[in-house]
Amino acid sequence: MPSLSLLRFAQPRGLRVSKAEGQYVWDSSGRRYLDFHTGHGAAFLGHRNPFVVRRISEQLGKLTCLPPVFENQILDEALDLLSKILPKHLTHVFFMNSGSEAVELALKLARKRSGRKLFASFTGAFHGRTMAALSVTHNPKYRSGFEPFPGEALFIPYNDTGQLSRIDESVAAAIVEPIQGEAGVYPATAEFMRALEERCREVGAYLIVDEVQSGFGRAGRVWSHLEHGVKPDIMVAGKSIGGGFPVSLIAVSSELGEKIEEGEHGSTHGGNPLALAALVGGIEAFLSDDVSGRAARMGELLGSQLTELAQEFKTVVRGVRSKGLMLAVELRERVSPYIARLQAEGLLLLRSGATTLRMLPPYLISKEDVELGISTLIRALTDRARQGA
Ligand SMILES: *Cc1c(COP(=O)(O)O)cnc(C)c1O
Repeated sequence: MPSLSLLRFAQPRGLRVSKAEGQYVWDSSGRRYLDFHTGHGAAFLGHRNPFVVRRISEQLGKLTCLPPVFENQILDEALDLLSKILPKHLTHVFFMNSGSEAVELALKLARKRSGRKLFASFTGAFHGRTMAALSVTHNPKYRSGFEPFPGEALFIPYNDTGQLSRIDESVAAAIVEPIQGEAGVYPATAEFMRALEERCREVGAYLIVDEVQSGFGRAGRVWSHLEHGVKPDIMVAGKSIGGGFPVSLIAVSSELGEKIEEGEHGSTHGGNPLALAALVGGIEAFLSDDVSGRAARMGELLGSQLTELAQEFKTVVRGVRSKGLMLAVELRERVSPYIARLQAEGLLLLRSGATTLRMLPPYLISKEDVELGISTLIRALTDRARQGA
């Protein structure tokens, strides 16, 4: 055993992983697991996606450390490819390393440009664990003990269009997830997203859309907010865009992008050539295959089978929610024993709170993988139902 310990912010999973490929990981004894966890969704393109591996490998032989104030080829390629997938009205980007960090910059820009202090966020919102990202994150479990936060936030009930009038001229920006992930997969309604955009325009507040989890095809579209036709001033992306490599970004409207002042922000590692190579590989993978379409279809299949399973196991399962390959199975009891049991049976997934199983499978799962996942779940639920009887 190493003499140094990790800070245990999360319970260790008790699984020693030695390699991963596509939708599977293997433990040190060579046993295979179906991965519906994908490193909190980051390996959405599949572990070691060939495009990502090729780009990183090539980049390793050329240049691995250079800030983007110096011109370089992989930066040009990243900007060029990004322009093919970003909403057209978002004309400027900045690269960072994590979702929280990108949220921080979004909030900073909104505050300085608006000259206002307050942020509007929503019940159930998750935007990350840094201090400003926490200020717009709702869950008291993540917040408590860390106050005061640098940002004061107004929390409005998610999907409650009637309460959007609480956003007034004192609000710098509203930040919203088009589909709440961490909270347990709750999609925003079109009516709500449109009313939110309209209210932001009315009072001159910026609209920030956080696509860190819901974006890059996972929910069945390249960016989930496009379904509702809204045009955010700032979009935040992260998690899966680098094919599992740490990279995040914000993309902003030209109105914001053209007003940047020198020295206002910066990042040592943001725009690192290896991270940009991962991003380029990730976008190539995205463009070379029908990633969003497949996520929509496989999500539909997995979601409908989970719904059937929920009918069958009504005594244990409260309900199922899904949008593309963001799926949640809400139980009537604590979820931890199930996660451990499913892992022992060869299925990795994650949780949302105390009673919800969450699945973030990679887009390339097959019908056989769906069947394997469902039969593994059925086994765990049957055992539980038997014990309960
Ligand atoms: C995961 C997540 C974040 C935070 O990203 P990190 O890379 O963990 O900092 C922010 N917003 C949303 C919606 C997320 O799901």
